Amino acid sequence: MTSPSAPGSAEDLLAFDREHLWHPYTSMTDPAPVRAVVGASGARLWLSETGAPADAVNVVDGMSSWWSAIHGYRHPRLDQAVKDQVDRFSHVMFGGLTHSPAVTLGRALVELTPEGLDKVFLADSGSVAVEVALKMVLQYQRGAGQPERRRFLTVRGGYHGDTFHPMSVTDPDGGMHSMWRGLLPEHVFAPRPPRLAQRTGSEATDVDDASAGEIDTWAAAFRATAEGHAHELAGIIVEPLLQGAGGMWPYPPACLQVMREVADDLGLLLVFDEIATGFGRTGHLFVSEIVTPDVLCLGKALTGGYMTLAAVVTTDRVARGISASESGVLMHGPTFMGNPLACAVALESLRVLTRSDWTSTVARIGTRLQTGLAPLRDLPGVKDVRTIGAVGIVQLEQRVDVPAATDAAIAAGAWLRPFNDLIYTMPPYVCTDNEVDTIVAAIHAATRASVEATS
Ligand SMILES: *Cc1c(COP(=O)(O)O)cnc(C)c1O
Repeated sequence: MTSPSAPGSAEDLLAFDREHLWHPYTSMTDPAPVRAVVGASGARLWLSETGAPADAVNVVDGMSSWWSAIHGYRHPRLDQAVKDQVDRFSHVMFGGLTHSPAVTLGRALVELTPEGLDKVFLADSGSVAVEVALKMVLQYQRGAGQPERRRFLTVRGGYHGDTFHPMSVTDPDGGMHSMWRGLLPEHVFAPRPPRLAQRTGSEATDVDDASAGEIDTWAAAFRATAEGHAHELAGIIVEPLLQGAGGMWPYPPACLQVMREVADDLGLLLVFDEIATGFGRTGHLFVSEIVTPDVLCLGKALTGGYMTLAAVVTTDRVARGISASESGVLMHGPTFMGNPLACAVALESLRVLTRSDWTSTVARIGTRLQTGLAPLRDLPGVKDVRTIGAVGIVQLEQRVDVPAATDAAIAAGAWLRPFNDLIYTMPPYVCTDNEVDTIVAAIHAATRASVEATS
């Protein structure tokens, strides 16, 4: 064979995929079915069950390709930014070299993130960003002459990525801790914060309010856990305001203040993993605007979903502390650090976002999701319905029957990817009201289908 062969037919495409390609969290020997994307534009995907474009159905993407495609697909300005950079150069090493896409993006991140966060490390994925953030904290503590501070405090229900150190601070139950016992570093887990109060417009009820009492109880437990390990803790890492893949769990901003105070009282650095929450999704450009962390991780929507890129932003104090550690440098440097294509499209995505009225957009989508999903609370088999920013979540009593739910959602016109007991959406910001309503209808259909299949 002189050159790689293209699939001969549409069926070949899916057949080869089934035999040879792993998908996220799937079995190679007993793979779950996949659909082929044969086109994408705006908030919409063309999905084909056979692989043939002629068989494709047009659906609204309710997932923004895992929080990332906030401006939708084939955005003219993002497309152009990539093309323009391809015509200059696609990649160069970042060791000993620099370039305008990285510098301009760095400047934008320094300007957009809260004051004080102004030292930027460009990483190549979210998990790597978390690795780098944890390494920064450890090196900082070494620089401060406290190498015995090597553990992290986090809360239950979190998710920070799939590589080993991020896995170790991910929820120990939902995550993979038991499988890796002895291999994963063992960190310290405090209880999960209480659920954020849900006020459904005028019919606000007290029923699901996280009361001040609940927050106080949690705060006391969080502080006690921290104090019990104070001598060995280096930092705190959490997803602020909304836990994502660990259970789609919004919690009160008051908890962030507690984390900040505990960190300051005990000499810990506070890391906010905003890989999912960043870029307006919760209604704040960054949750870090409410409470400023010492280290901020960004990813997912950073490039508008065009390619993989992440960033870790920290303070001058942390940077100095790292330099004071024995190596004198931050010990990290991936091959594709600061990839020019990714930086160029990230910069354009930030421009599109910040020059748009994204706060109204997120509020508009959020309100529609909240009103549209609220009636599901009364459906038997539904445990909870919650929303925050432009995120809508339905939690079932049982694990979702994913194939049944997916088929029903697609028949209703939207792509959803449920997990565990959750059917949820975070739509692209370019969704029209009609498209949001289609997603809501698809969540209703998926919920009914799953409840029916599992009861
Ligand atoms: C997705 C995610 C990660 C991991 O990012 P990858 O790019 O998938 O490695 C880390 N933290 C949070 C909060 C995430 O949502």
